[in-house]
Amino acid sequence: MPVKVYLGLGSNLNSPARQIKAALKAITKLQGTQLVKCAPWYQSIAIGPGSQPPYINTVVEIDTVLKPRILLNALQRIETQQGRKRIVRWGPRTLDIDILLYANQTLKTRQLEVPHPRISARNFVLYPLADIAPKIRLPDGTALARLLANSSPEGIVRLDAGGSGGRTG
Ligand code: ADP
Ligand code: MG
Repeated sequence: MPVKVYLGLGSNLNSPARQIKAALKAITKLQGTQLVKCAPWYQSIAIGPGSQPPYINTVVEIDTVLKPRILLNALQRIETQQGRKRIVRWGPRTLDIDILLYANQTLKTRQLEVPHPRISARNFVLYPLADIAPKIRLPDGTALARLLANSSPEGIVRLDAGGSGGRTG
């Protein structure tokens, strides 16, 4: 049975809009996986070491039969195919794909932590997630709406859907 999964996408190198588009296409081609919803795109100021170009971020909902580790591997393969190099932690990247939520599961291994540990601290995740799943709760029962209420939109701008962002379908 497929499960509902939310992925966070981000890029701040090498034409971020093109990177996100290519990532969406690659996600639709994953085995046993359907792209269900795509949030509007946001531009966000980079956090992390040094001065970096701004990010484009979005969140997608997928239905997938892939188990968490298999899905993570597949997503990391997409990152690598799009030229992701792991040099500096939180350094600039062509593509980052994080598993935000996997059904209602909680996982904590060295490779994979779900829900993603920094969801509640990242407005560039909370806002697009709320755009497509406003009523969702984390596995521990925390309402996304409550996290959002504590999160300032400072540093992020929702891009016009008629521009590079927008919905699928
Ligand atoms: P970040 O996304 O925090 O900027 P990276 O993309 O470089 O960092 O990921 C570093 C490692 O985080 C990955 O190799 C992966 O094993 C691990 N990781 C743990 N939990 C998750 C998750 N929920 N989604 C994606 N990667 C995760
Ligand atoms: Mg990541």
